[in-house]
Amino acid sequence: MSRVAVLWGFSKTLPPRIRRRLTTTPDGCILYRGASADGYGRAWLNGKSVYLHRLALEDALRRPLRQGFQVDHLCRRRACCRPEHLEEVTLRENVMRGETLAAENASKTVCKNGHPFTEANTYRYTRRDGRGRRYCRKCLYLNGRTSPIRVGNGY
Ligand SMILES: [Zn+2]
Ligand SMILES: [Zn+2]
Repeated sequence: MSRVAVLWGFSKTLPPRIRRRLTTTPDGCILYRGASADGYGRAWLNGKSVYLHRLALEDALRRPLRQGFQVDHLCRRRACCRPEHLEEVTLRENVMRGETLAAENASKTVCKNGHPFTEANTYRYTRRDGRGRRYCRKCLYLNGRTSPIRVGNGY
């Protein structure tokens, strides 16, 4: 009996060829090895190409995902199929959550006032909700501040 099967009853419903590709990580993810190009665990099942994480969550919820909802990976590993790491969210929520600093950096190279977001000019700050934010040091400086954090302003 593999560790995955012990951990996770759903995996027992999968054919061995799929089950064999599931692997646990020390931090608790159950990853599907050989994920598709988009990084998600995808497999052929009953003549259809299915997303394994989606199946896993539907199994845990004991119902299909609601219309207009998709699966968000709380662990941010697309190949992860562990139901505890998955959450049913609206598309908008998922897009917002996916806004990591990396994505932000890739999409924006200057601040709203046109100062370049170079390493030296970037002030990184993680908000209380865990989301990373980025501030332009030059703008902060021009506003007479050295840090984006003010008391009681709701940042
Ligand atoms: Zn995970
Ligand atoms: Zn600026």
